[in-house]
Amino acid sequence: QGDHEDILVGIEEIKGELSKYEHPYFIIDLMYWDRHTPKEKRKLALQLNQSYGLIRDYLWGERLVLTWLNKRAESSMHFPLQRITGFRGPTHKFLAENGIIEATLLDLWAEEDIRPEELTSRAFIIGGIVDKTGDKKGATPRIGEKLQENGIRVKRRRISLRGDTVGVPDRINLILEILLKMIFEGKNMEEAVLEVQ
Ligand code: SAM
Repeated sequence: QGDHEDILVGIEEIKGELSKYEHPYFIIDLMYWDRHTPKEKRKLALQLNQSYGLIRDYLWGERLVLTWLNKRAESSMHFPLQRITGFRGPTHKFLAENGIIEATLLDLWAEEDIRPEELTSRAFIIGGIVDKTGDKKGATPRIGEKLQENGIRVKRRRISLRGDTVGVPDRINLILEILLKMIFEGKNMEEAVLEVQ
């Protein structure tokens, strides 16, 4: 009986170790790339550049995915695109091709905060959106709808500071950094937000 329990505990430990190697994809959805002004595109490209640096600090470049890439968007990037995963099609197609049917969309309009137990998601999606003109309000939920229309189960989750998104930076690279700190450094949401502010 005792041996049997030891074996079961051992199996659980091995499973825990293995799951550490199933790293998630961090997807930046560029569906709205062409809706940006030239100045917004420059800012977006800068935030993507910073996201590339971050992913290499925590994981490796290939885990950062840019979807909806086209020639125009590619020519604006200032980092080696061959070191990340560039995908020319829609996000749902990337997920389907990788056998992922459920993903977490980081969405400032969501009603629920992301919970610690949800950090095991296989894919986190951040909207590749920069707002300077105010015509992209609510664009992130639209990304979620598009995924759902195409058969992906989407969990829309928010990052908040004491229950409010005011005080949470909305730059793509900072949202990514908050997530990485929560997943790989075990920080809680408040600690992670305060550290990137
Ligand atoms: N105007 C856009 C909208 O209304 O959806 C805002 C986009 S925001 C500048 C860029 C991306 O950062 C969003 O698509 C979302 O993925 C992420 N984001 C920003 N703030 C967030 C928050 N508080 N919680 C979760 N995700 C957030």
